[in-house]
Amino acid sequence: DRLLADTDPEVSAAISAELVRQQTTLEMIASENFAPVAVMQAQGSVLTNKYAEGYPGRRYYGGCEHVDVIEQLAIDRLKALFGAEYANVQPHSGAQANAAAMSALLQPGDTILGLDLAHGGHLTHGMKLNFSGKLYDVAAYHVRADDHLVDMAEVERLAFERRPKLIVAGWSAYPRQLDFAEFRRIADEVGAHLMVDMAHFAGLVAAGLHPSPVPHAHVVTSTTHKTLGGPRGGVILATADLAKKFNSSVFPGQQGGPLEHVIAAKAVAFKLAGEPAFRERQERTLAGARLLADRLLAPDSRAAGIDVVSGGTDVHLVLVDLRESELDGRQAEDRLDAIGITVNRNAVPFDPRPPMVSSGVRIGTPALAARGFGLEDFAEVADVIALALRPSVGEELLAELRTRVTRLADRHPLYPDLTEVPR
Ligand code: PLP
Repeated sequence: DRLLADTDPEVSAAISAELVRQQTTLEMIASENFAPVAVMQAQGSVLTNKYAEGYPGRRYYGGCEHVDVIEQLAIDRLKALFGAEYANVQPHSGAQANAAAMSALLQPGDTILGLDLAHGGHLTHGMKLNFSGKLYDVAAYHVRADDHLVDMAEVERLAFERRPKLIVAGWSAYPRQLDFAEFRRIADEVGAHLMVDMAHFAGLVAAGLHPSPVPHAHVVTSTTHKTLGGPRGGVILATADLAKKFNSSVFPGQQGGPLEHVIAAKAVAFKLAGEPAFRERQERTLAGARLLADRLLAPDSRAAGIDVVSGGTDVHLVLVDLRESELDGRQAEDRLDAIGITVNRNAVPFDPRPPMVSSGVRIGTPALAARGFGLEDFAEVADVIALALRPSVGEELLAELRTRVTRLADRHPLYPDLTEVPR
């Protein structure tokens, strides 16, 4: 058989160029990570050819004896990793996991209560153009203006006023931990189910460095590619009594054939997430984010109008608040991009600028931690970012910062043995 480079030189060249981009820049998009080669090998395997509608031992296709082994391994490892009674590893993505979880527990028109997108929530938590906002009646809670923490008094008030069937706790851009027990208390008061979407912080939970939502929630959803460091995909965890509902909601409810190549890669990632090296990496992830927040709160940054949402971080990301800065979110994203640091602009709570511009950048440390960055490296990254975000930065300083970024990237080679598509 012809290899990719011969079959399709255009796609092959673009993949090779992407590999070089990942190797030579600093990836600080908070939702990204670098999957280990073993994970990519599983995902790039012959399992991509297999249909396996159904679940292990109950398939609608022949020849499933090997994918049954793989999917059962993924399920068992995921349950063990988070201490859950039930796991479904088939959702193709985090959004699919949320769609399936919601359709299992809700009828169209039912009310859901989730964190406002503009305050750090996710599209699938009730944004009006998303399935969640179209299918369900949405009530949104917010963070407080003074300390940027989720306003639990508002959650409780809205729960009693709007009587949601489902309360969603979880976020895409929030630098602190949520009080899952308090969410559950409120859900119980109004007879709602509690769903925690731990997509962002699942890796921290797996490492024991963040409280687990599993003992508190009726259902927990997640992606597998963020802090968890696996292939792109989704999962659902729940109590055993909800197993049937969720299984049938994923298949045949939302999806057809599961992606067994991705499920194999998930199984590998769950194995790795149980190992000591994974915990050590998550510790560096957290320490790196804290160093960055501290550096951006130093007097020279504050004088440049830079602030940090909630005054720091307990997780893997920092939300930089540029409301008082001459630089807006888009300019800050471009500025960092120009020196080889990839981030995304992000609205901050109570953002006066429109979403396409925004007054913030979200900066995460998981991918650099996966590359092997330690405290010294993160201190250097923090310094480079703080200098780059000053309103008036000359070409000379930018060139120097680009050099410092290259030096950091060289110090921790990424995928040193890969030159093209993994085989
Ligand atoms: N849930 C949360 C909290 C997220 O941040 C994301 C991704 O950004 C998702 C769900 C959706 O995941 P996916 O992009 O895999 O659909």
